[in-house]
Amino acid sequence: MARRLPVVGGNWKMHTTRTEARALLQALRADLDGLAGAQIVVCPPAPWLSDAADALAGSTLEVGAQDVHWEPNGAFTGAISAPMLAGVASWVIVGHSERRHLFGETAEETNAKLRAILAAGLRPILAVGERQEESDRTADILRRQLDEGFLGFDRLPADVVIAYEPVWAIGTGLAATPDDAQTRCALIRSMLAQRFGAAAADNCRIQYGGSVNPQNIGGYAKQPDIDGALVGGASLDAAAFTAICRAVAAA
Ligand code: PEP
Repeated sequence: MARRLPVVGGNWKMHTTRTEARALLQALRADLDGLAGAQIVVCPPAPWLSDAADALAGSTLEVGAQDVHWEPNGAFTGAISAPMLAGVASWVIVGHSERRHLFGETAEETNAKLRAILAAGLRPILAVGERQEESDRTADILRRQLDEGFLGFDRLPADVVIAYEPVWAIGTGLAATPDDAQTRCALIRSMLAQRFGAAAADNCRIQYGGSVNPQNIGGYAKQPDIDGALVGGASLDAAAFTAICRAVAAA
């Protein structure tokens, strides 16, 4: 099996002024352009996507959006479609737990968004993960989220990255242990293998996300089934995000 290139995503969520965003983009480019051994995807808020596209043009850093609407156009005030994003981003996070749980995104919507992302030639980072109260049935939750996310897919698109993000670990400082994260990512890979075949599952990149920081990234980066990280809070600090990316690239 060819080594999977790890992916580190920085999900800025609803943070940064435009001035802060531009400064962070510049710092990331200066620190990380040309880094071998990891693919880096910076996901700023939607209003700064074209700033990001400009600031990172010609570098090895790629731009991602945090969400998308599933229709290509129409009377959907405030929404942004995948064909619109295609001009400024190459990745889109989909099914993030904050979209699912704070904004009521349904499984059908996640599936429709995934299709729209792929149809527009973009690459999805599909986030899955159990809530604290579901931790006694994590396998069932992950299987259901994968089944629902990929409903109607007869093959696993090569461009899909999965982010395993236990909801209780996001933004709490309570990161999963590297062993537990490895067990869950291996479980996701085995579920993908059952559904799409061993080769597709072996090639699929599966990130861990949930309170990743420069101190704990080393534990995840060396796990055989963890292919990078989706980083929230620490992605707002150029030095911290750079340290995370370098640790992943060096593992
Ligand atoms: C996230 O937003 O996907 C995330 C993992 O956030 P944090 O790193 O802050 O836990």
